[in-house]
Amino acid sequence: MKIICIGRNYRDHAKELNNPVPKKPLVFMKPPSALLINKKPFYYPDFSSNIHYEAEVVLKITKNGKYVQPAFAKDYFAEVALGIDFTARDLQSQCKEKGHPWEIAKGFDGSAVLSEFVPFDKVDQNGIEFTFSKNGEIVQRGNTNDLIFPFEYLIQYVSQFFKLQMGDLIFTGTPAGVGPVKPGDILRGDFNQLKEEEPLLYCEVK
Ligand code: ZN
Repeated sequence: MKIICIGRNYRDHAKELNNPVPKKPLVFMKPPSALLINKKPFYYPDFSSNIHYEAEVVLKITKNGKYVQPAFAKDYFAEVALGIDFTARDLQSQCKEKGHPWEIAKGFDGSAVLSEFVPFDKVDQNGIEFTFSKNGEIVQRGNTNDLIFPFEYLIQYVSQFFKLQMGDLIFTGTPAGVGPVKPGDILRGDFNQLKEEEPLLYCEVK
């Protein structure tokens, strides 16, 4: 299983970090050991003093495919989740400055938080709308209609380089509003269409 992540896929987020809006998807990966599931807490790591949350819609790949054509891309996912792409922003800035890879800033243990999966058609009505809050205050709102590179395009693009395999995950990018976390913070994310009392995505920072 691999975790494929897309950076700068919403215009307003690219702008807030002073990054140019990309012409092609920016792709990176996290190892399977980055996964944090079942609402387990996230332990703030020693190597960073600026961990940021990034709330993202996550696709689960349901069949194997290489060079998937856009017309067939929809057949490759049936369920979506909400996730957090935890990022050590301080390490990432150092890596960027030096032109180094981002793995240590993006792929550390617990950096890929994942909610339960929901059938795609249950949440996709005029785009998938989601909200993400920190300590009860909404900090990110997103709608996948605003993706620079939509799901079908991502599947086609990524599958040129990496064969998609059943169970692979694609973190599809974060909207504006990313920010730091500290021990004690409670993070919650929901798909607006579900209107559940119980949080879909829940993570306590320890
Ligand atoms: Zn991200």
